[in-house]
Amino acid sequence: MNENRAIKVALLGAGSVGSQVARLLLEQADEYERRVGTRLELIGISVRNPDAKRDVDLPSELFTTDPERLILSADLVIELMGGISPARELITLALESGADVVTANKALLAHHGAELFELAERVGAQLYYEAAVAGAIPIIRPLRENLGGDRVERILGIVNGTTNYILDRMHTRGDTFDESLRIATELGYAEADPTADIEGYDAQQKAAILASIAFHTKVPVEEVYREGITSVSIEEIEDAKRAGYVVKLLAICERLIGEAGEPDQVSARVYPALVPNAHPLASVHGGNNAVFVEAKAAGSLMFYGAGAGGVETASAVLGDLVAAARRHLLGGPGSGESMDANLPILPVDEIVTRYQISLEAADEAGILASIARTFADQGVSVQTLEQAAPVEETEAHSGAEPVSRATLVIGTHQATEGSLSRLVQALSASPAVHQVNGVLRVEGVNS
Ligand code: NAP
Repeated sequence: MNENRAIKVALLGAGSVGSQVARLLLEQADEYERRVGTRLELIGISVRNPDAKRDVDLPSELFTTDPERLILSADLVIELMGGISPARELITLALESGADVVTANKALLAHHGAELFELAERVGAQLYYEAAVAGAIPIIRPLRENLGGDRVERILGIVNGTTNYILDRMHTRGDTFDESLRIATELGYAEADPTADIEGYDAQQKAAILASIAFHTKVPVEEVYREGITSVSIEEIEDAKRAGYVVKLLAICERLIGEAGEPDQVSARVYPALVPNAHPLASVHGGNNAVFVEAKAAGSLMFYGAGAGGVETASAVLGDLVAAARRHLLGGPGSGESMDANLPILPVDEIVTRYQISLEAADEAGILASIARTFADQGVSVQTLEQAAPVEETEAHSGAEPVSRATLVIGTHQATEGSLSRLVQALSASPAVHQVNGVLRVEGVNS
């Protein structure tokens, strides 16, 4: 029999993740006791509706609709309600009462993380959030602790399973975006309102969290450039395939070395990008997540696995709970977040990457030279050019001679976002170009 008194654990939320956390806490109580050195006692579960049907059967006497009271009786609090309010107020209450808190709430951390970390540090408590990014995959602790003595230079993350499922389906089955989204919804990969996933908001929140930890700098979510995947066409996927790429929605966090005594800058951004087939992220299929980290001394590391799912995410939550329980027994202040590097954030226009531009042009002599001049005028140099077979078209009402049009897919060398957007404007205005079909950035290539 263990001599320490039981550690009282309060759970806020019993949805997909919370119900699995409760189940495992109850089922594996003896194992946790051996592992931690004392019993973890689940003293209550706060929900909106105690009578709602749950994924698992849990003892009805644990349910309450009074989270404040529950928190004030607990040593450790697990927040799995999601959303900003009342999660923010309840975590504040828990930290102020001296309890360590475990949360999976990326939205809350992306918007109010700095305030909560400061509070935790002030009161000597600790806020754990391994499950907030990439579900079951350990990535927060590796960045905070294992790589705490290294310098992270770049993170490329597939951190949203819904969009990875959709893009993977478009790539492997040739389905359109709408068809892939419909199937993702039927299979439970996408929510009834998929906006947060397909418009990149979920990945944006995760990018803000990853960049903040990796670069020891507060990166506000509003500073993370974001594009979703709704405009990715099946033609772009096919072009990518032909050129040896796959399209992935990436969360990109980069540290750019300052020149001539200037400080380093950081960039965090989310957009669909072309990833070379040989890159490890290209083989992340279905709803899986992966985070590819490049660190100065460690080199390249990849963290891969289930980025969501109730029981999978519960694994990360319970890992944090075990760490919190051990800290509770040992005492001492929390380890806090190191956010004091305060590196400036690179303006979006100055982001440098490579691009692939698909456009339609008249299939006439001199057109290529004219397009090449437009590229040169904007300071963007062409690296590759592929031309699809020309098609003949006649305007339905004109009775004119058919015109022949060619689709060109042009890969560029590195250029800034600013020069790229000026280039696209110039191409759209050029008489040589019928229309610009789309632009995708190329990531995961060194030059
Ligand atoms: P969920 O299924 O929607 O469950 C939310 C739970 O919180 C429900 O039990 C709900 O009570 C309770 N709740 C919500 N608002 C409340 C309020 N105002 N007062 C009291 N209780 C309230 O959510 P989830 O999918 O488990 O996600 C929980 C957290 O984990 C979120 O922050 C999410 O971003 C994060 N996360 C989830 C996953 C995943 O795969 N699901 C993966 C990674 C991270 P009722 O049951 O009574 O409605």
